[in-house]
Amino acid sequence: MADFSPAADRLRALLAELLPAGAVGSLVGGEILPGTGEKLTLVNPADGRPLLDFADAGADVVDAAFAAAAPAQRAWWGMTAAARGRAMWEVARLIREKAPLLAELEAISAGKPIRDTRGEVAKVAEMFEYYAGWADKLHGEVIPVPTSHLNYTRPEPFGTVVQITPWNAPIFTGGWQIAPAICAGNAVVLKPSELTPLSTIALGHLCNVAEGMPKGLVNILAGAGPSTGAQAVAHRETRLVVFVGSAQAGAQIAAAAARNIVPSILELGGKSANIVFADADLSRAVAGAQAAIFGGAGQSCVAGSRLLVQRSVQAEFVDRLARATARIPVGAPLDPATQIGPINNRRQFEKIGGMVSGAVEAGARLATGGGCPEALRETGGFFFAPTILDGVTPASAIAQEEVFGPVLAVLPFDTEEEAIALANATPYGLAGAAWTQDVGRAHRVAAQVRAGTFWINGYKTINVASPFGGFGRSGFGRSSGREALMAYTQTKSVWVETAAEPGVAFGYVG
Ligand code: NAD
Repeated sequence: MADFSPAADRLRALLAELLPAGAVGSLVGGEILPGTGEKLTLVNPADGRPLLDFADAGADVVDAAFAAAAPAQRAWWGMTAAARGRAMWEVARLIREKAPLLAELEAISAGKPIRDTRGEVAKVAEMFEYYAGWADKLHGEVIPVPTSHLNYTRPEPFGTVVQITPWNAPIFTGGWQIAPAICAGNAVVLKPSELTPLSTIALGHLCNVAEGMPKGLVNILAGAGPSTGAQAVAHRETRLVVFVGSAQAGAQIAAAAARNIVPSILELGGKSANIVFADADLSRAVAGAQAAIFGGAGQSCVAGSRLLVQRSVQAEFVDRLARATARIPVGAPLDPATQIGPINNRRQFEKIGGMVSGAVEAGARLATGGGCPEALRETGGFFFAPTILDGVTPASAIAQEEVFGPVLAVLPFDTEEEAIALANATPYGLAGAAWTQDVGRAHRVAAQVRAGTFWINGYKTINVASPFGGFGRSGFGRSSGREALMAYTQTKSVWVETAAEPGVAFGYVG
């Protein structure tokens, strides 16, 4: 018999308010369908105990999701653009109405601090509001062709798009992808991580019950990657695959999409450089370096996991940073004072521990952290203290590989050129930052670091209005902003003969 805890009872109470009949399964055509595959168990990251079981969706449920999506997409695209925008505003209104419940659900099931999940749920509402505004502003153009034709373009939806998301910010990432996809006229079949599916199912439910939204436009598959996820990618009705997750899974998924002759967008991981020059406002940079790596317990794709610090201030900076880091409150997700919650799952917790001990064996100096904080050992939760490793060498594993945990690798540099070379010395290219009071240097560095997002004297601001995505091994394609609408549409070119007596030619004309 599984040992379910009070957190499990609270979770069930939240689900009773957020899901149809409180049942956990895949959301298909607005109804919850039980899976037909293997049993999967959700575990509470804060105490290691089971929260609830559900069954992997399986091929029949995947088929049902596509069958629900197609008519819903036709109905949606047949509505006026203004009506689609109004329906998306209604989704945003429902998200705001249910925000406290959604934030608590996310905090319990993903182990994220409640102060973070409140902010993330509010951002999801903003995403639907932003794209609601775009719905009737998405249009083509008239091209001045050198013939007697009127030639115009129509941005058209792909049809049904498959989205696959990871466990670190489930509802945030779900909204980040669902909102632009439906704004562009598509239907969605989204498979969230099997470790954290609940908040995405709840979001999908709000998309189904909002006034004006066709049932089945948004479908959520509760299930595992290699089974349910792979079946969705390979489905004959899939028209676009958008993947957010690790480079390893991304490569497999892009290959599977290509075999299905379907384009893909990959939002992958990173090893982002946070560069501190000696001329920076060091107090702000100390606070910024903590936010860069330790927010979300380091389980953030854009985490500033490499601190490149100019050698003349290295000792002072690392000392101040380590002392401040040791004071960051680590604890239970539902405690409003908590800034760092547990790692999402045991496997990841163990991986982080292994990477830290490997770095120390390879010669790095542990400036703070290194494992589960003493006070939290008895909880059974996957807590990992914020950790700083100084004296890291550029070629070492800890400087090259994504940890996806609260672990900062510190590397010194002497010159601006060296800082840029170090920043670019991994295969990734997701994000980066520079701290300096020299405005010319700030822009030179921003131009030369290979990254999809770059901050100057700050870190981690992202917004639905601004494009986001990776360079290099961090992926391709852009989410959010106007660029996401381009990614979620395909362009049709329409030619209209306007000549009174048009000629008919064989072969290409114009
Ligand atoms: P993961 O790649 O293991 O899993 C991500 C998703 O892919 C899950 O839903 C999983 O079930 C599914 N999946 C795995 N194998 C699959 C397959 N063969 N076919 C279909 N689906 C499959 O990643 P994770 O451990 O859940 O998340 C952590 C990773 O996500 C990190 O690398 C992180 O940097 C990255 N991430 C990137 C972004 C971004 O926007 N660039 C955002 C958040 C997280």
